[in-house]
Parts: sequence; C-alpha cells; structure tokens
Amino acid sequence: MIPRPFEYHAPRTLSEAIALLNAHGDTAKLLAGGHSLLPMMKLRFAEPGHLIDLGKLPDLQGIREVGNEIGIGAMTTENALIWSELLQSRCPLIVEGARQISDPQVRYRGTLGGDIAHGDPGNDHPALMIALDASFVLLSEQGERVVPADGFFLGTYMTQLEPGEILTEIRIPMPPSGTGYCYAKLKRKTGDFATAAAAVTLRRAGDTVDDVRIALTNVAPTAIRATDAEQALRGKPFDESVVAEAARLAMAVCDPVEDLRGDVEYRTAMAGEMVRRALTVAYSRATA
Ligand code: FAD
Repeated sequence: MIPRPFEYHAPRTLSEAIALLNAHGDTAKLLAGGHSLLPMMKLRFAEPGHLIDLGKLPDLQGIREVGNEIGIGAMTTENALIWSELLQSRCPLIVEGARQISDPQVRYRGTLGGDIAHGDPGNDHPALMIALDASFVLLSEQGERVVPADGFFLGTYMTQLEPGEILTEIRIPMPPSGTGYCYAKLKRKTGDFATAAAAVTLRRAGDTVDDVRIALTNVAPTAIRATDAEQALRGKPFDESVVAEAARLAMAVCDPVEDLRGDVEYRTAMAGEMVRRALTVAYSRATA
C-alpha cells in the first residue's frame, strides 16, 4: 500500500527538531532509518501528517568513550556499530547482537535509537541494552533526562518516551575487562525476528559466578530481565545444574504470543535453551 500524504521536514539542529515536534504534536513522527516506521506507514498502521527526519543532525551520530562510559548517538546505524573498533574491543556484545539483526540492507539504514524507541518486543537492542545496564538520554523542550534501559520498555510499542521527546544518546557503562558476554538468538531464517533470544553479561571469580545480567527478546510484550535466574547464579560455582535452574527460572517469566515462529510452549522452551547457551558461552569468554 501507499502511505497517506505527509509533509517532510529535515531539521539541521536538535532544537529545530524539538520545535517541529512540539509544533505538530500528535500528527508528527520522527524518522530515523525508516525500517520500522515506513512499513507501518505503508500498512497505514501509522499515518503521520509530518515526518521529522533526524538524518541531518550531526549531534546524533558517533560512538565515543566518555569517562567510564561509552556514548552512542541515537542515529548510529547497525553497520556502524558492527565496524566500531571501540565496541569490538570494549563492548563486543553490541557487535555480536547487531550482526544478527536482519540483513545488510536493514543494517545499513536501521539505527540503534530507532530500534530502541520503536518498542517492538522482537527488536534485539532492548535486551542487549538491559544486559549492558545502559541508560537513555531523552531530550525535550524542558531539558534532558536520563532513564535506565531496565524499566524503559513498558509494553508492546510503548516506552517511557513522552510526546515531544527525542532519544539522543545511549550510554553504556564500560564493561570491566574480563566480562564474558553472549547474544544467543534463534531465528527461522536470515531476516527474521527472534523466535527467542537471550543476552548475557557475566563476570566470574575463579569457577564462581561473580555477577550476571540476563535479558530476553521476543518472549513477552517487551524485552524482559530474568532477575530470579540471575540471583540463582550469583555466588555459585558454574555447573550444569545451576545453569539448568537459571534456564528454568528464565522460562518462568516468559509470556510469549503464539505466532508463525511457534506456540507458547515451544517459544518458552527456546527461551530457556537460549539462556543455557548464552550463559555457557559467556562463562567461557569471561576471565577470572
Ligand atoms: P524508524 O523506523 O525510522 O523509527 C522507528 C520508530 O522509532 C518510529 O516510531 C520513530 O518515530 C521512532 N524513533 C526513531 N528514532 C527515534 C529517536 N531518536 N527518538 C525518539 N523516537 C525515535 N530489528 C531487530 O532488532 N531485529 C531483527 O531481527 C529485525 N529484523 C528486521 C527485518 C526486516 C525485514 C525489517 C524491515 C526490519 C527488521 N528489524 C529488526 C527492525 C529494524 O532494526 C529497524 O531498523 C528498527 O526497528 C527501527 O530503527 P529505524 O532506525 O529504522 O527507525
């Protein structure tokens, strides 16, 4: 289908973008890579009268080290994440996750900020961001606020973003050296969203799990954190039985919908299996 007519705006500054957003209220939509928004417009699930393109705002680009954090501009594409030397060396979980998103065409246009702001439970960055303990910088006419990724996702296509706000930057605490990581994603074919996926960061002290974060993709109305599973692992020697218990506890918080990817039972079981695989790989990559 063809989208409804709309007016296109290409602001050159963030303040101009905020002013346009306020001027057009509910009838305006921000445009990032367009790989979620434009399909929705073609299906007429979204019918904005004004599209505000963020593509010409240099402030929203780039990946930098700031103190003990990594700051990533919201308009950074998946491809830029994959090729970032800083992320490859200091935060490879993002690289591993971005490489598993769709296909090159989507990765060249799709942005980190768009993937997060869209609030789609099938998107991969929400779980990656929760596992990395990221926070999001939201800018409006009233100023800036910073909210943690854990708690930002409220429901399917619903986030803490308020009308008039733009997600400008994603901040990630620099993972301590030796942190193990893994994004285990089951998908039916290249280009498909996850049947189930698990993002894990893990620190070990000898043979024991010192700390761990686990987040799941596409097995609930939002990305979810498996806190009981994390708790079952902390301070315990890493072995098959503790991993099986963590996988069981992660499955207990799943609430997937039945779709072409499988029924509720299958997708829940696959979430458990992705947790088991991600924990095993993350532990093997961690150094004590
Ligand atoms: P857009 O589509 O431009 O915007 C999405 C929404 O976010 C819009 O409502 C927009 O207004 C809002 N928005 C965008 N940027 C901001 C901002 N800075 N501040 C506030 N609001 C903002 N994604 C995955 O994670 N995993 C997959 O496996 C996957 N598979 C895909 C397969 C196909 C065939 C396609 C077409 C897409 C797939 N996607 C997948 C989605 C893709 O990653 C999108 O690019 C992403 O969801 C949205 O990013 P975008 O930059 O394209 O945003």
